[in-house]
Amino acid sequence: MDMSTPDFVIIGGGLAGCECALALARYGLACTLYEQKPETFSPAHVSPLLGELVCSNSFRSNDAQGSGVGLLKEEMRKLGSATMAIAATCSVPAGKALAVDRTLFAEELTRRVEEEPLITLIRRQIPDLDAPELEGKTVIVAAGPLVSENLAASLADIISTGSAAPRLYFYDAIAPIVRADSVDMTIAFRGSRYGNDAPPPYSDDAPFLEKPMETMVNPGAEDNGDYLNCPMTKAEYTAFYEALREAERVPAHDFEKEIHFEGCMPIEALADRGERTLTFGPLKPVGFTDPRTGRRPYALLQLRAENAERTSFNLVGCQTKMTYGAQDKVFRLVPGLANAEFLRFGSVHRNTYVNAPECLNDDLSLKARPNVYLAGQITGVEGYVESAACGLWLGLLLAARAHGRDLPLPPQTTALGARMRHLRTPSKQFTPSNIHFGLMPELAERTKKKARKAEMADRGRADFDAWLAETELGKENTSC
Ligand SMILES: Cc1cc2nc3c(=O)[nH]c(=O)nc-3n(C[C@H](O)[C@H](O)[C@H](O)COP(=O)(O)OP(=O)(O)OC[C@H]3O[C@@H](n4cnc5c(N)ncnc54)[C@H](O)[C@@H]3O)c2cc1C
Repeated sequence: MDMSTPDFVIIGGGLAGCECALALARYGLACTLYEQKPETFSPAHVSPLLGELVCSNSFRSNDAQGSGVGLLKEEMRKLGSATMAIAATCSVPAGKALAVDRTLFAEELTRRVEEEPLITLIRRQIPDLDAPELEGKTVIVAAGPLVSENLAASLADIISTGSAAPRLYFYDAIAPIVRADSVDMTIAFRGSRYGNDAPPPYSDDAPFLEKPMETMVNPGAEDNGDYLNCPMTKAEYTAFYEALREAERVPAHDFEKEIHFEGCMPIEALADRGERTLTFGPLKPVGFTDPRTGRRPYALLQLRAENAERTSFNLVGCQTKMTYGAQDKVFRLVPGLANAEFLRFGSVHRNTYVNAPECLNDDLSLKARPNVYLAGQITGVEGYVESAACGLWLGLLLAARAHGRDLPLPPQTTALGARMRHLRTPSKQFTPSNIHFGLMPELAERTKKKARKAEMADRGRADFDAWLAETELGKENTSC
């Protein structure tokens, strides 16, 4: 290979693009990195520096035993992540979280990229994927959730050809996810809407039965575990509704105002329209019997299975801009969720990402144009750390291949393996995701809630170390 000729072109000098470029360089490979700033800024970027953290200065939990993102960080350190190395030099006190001085962080990342002889940094926008700069090159699009509109249009054209449904999305409407075994099944019940005889109508005065009715009154219970249903009386609904109205909300950025349209309205915005709007919308009770009363519930929240094993469920229609703290209080008012374990909270924000399971090959290349790879948030990973991890992974994979080797993905029990496999898992509605333990397989043995995360972390660590030892990355004197 002629090392003087850059073969790789990376579009976007954010966390993913810089991690990818530096990983390639560590293995002796040259690349050209195009960054549109300071010529052009997205609506959220303000600094000319690379690796700009556009919102919070936190990389979230550093606790590898208690959080998926803590475990992911540990694995990234073992893989030589620049983000993790630099964060360690400019961290600020943040309890169990890893937070950084954002300016120092971005300055140091920029310095490393600029001083790396194998990286040619060009401050220019790449307007489309047929631009002459990309001809004959291996292209990595790491242009982020606020990718320039022209490049997004070009990507959409390529991946949507021959498909009736759009494959590039411009916003996230994420509903919270809970662990299935933390839902109180003495209140919630399995089953799907309609199909049974109409139950007696709702009555405020209907007493709770001494023994809840068999859940079989709701059809589909025996063969369809895809939905769990949380029924509400009027008093329970009113308490939930009032808490929703009063809950603290995350303010929208100016450029996010347009995303509130039907179909992806935050649940609290629907609640603002009137007291009954939710009961005619996402909390509509028709077609169900509340096993506690034998009558139709006043309102009903459905939980939809998030994975094939049905170990985690999302709260249907509960995309929200409430703060995480508010979500933790408000959703516990839903009958059956008082002790729910939240694997992920909800959000609604502008975010450009592809339907990864449909558009990407396992190695993150586009099915429709295999010399073009995606990295970072645009793939459907969510979060600073996850975006950096994705760029790092792609850099290592491409480096291994350039040196004639393959690099298998770490097992799904590891944070990186679980994170990247989510992009390969087809679903009716692909939504971006942070890393969390719910993306990893259950433990073989039932474990107490308190010990579960630590055991999953121990299992992941052992599997990651074994994987690393097997790969060239883990061997000393690698000639990469
Ligand atoms: C408003 C907002 C707030 C967020 N807040 C958080 C948060 O608090 N915590 C968190 O964990 N995650 C947050 N995220 C999600 C996400 O993790 C970050 O956006 C993260 O920076 C994504 O990393 P990335 O490398 O994929 O993209 P980016 O960091 O956005 O980097 C992409 C780079 O590509 C450049 N670029 C775009 N188009 C072109 C082009 N055509 N040619 C050349 N260069 C181009 C951009 O200028 C940018 O520098 C937020 C996202 C948004 C949109």
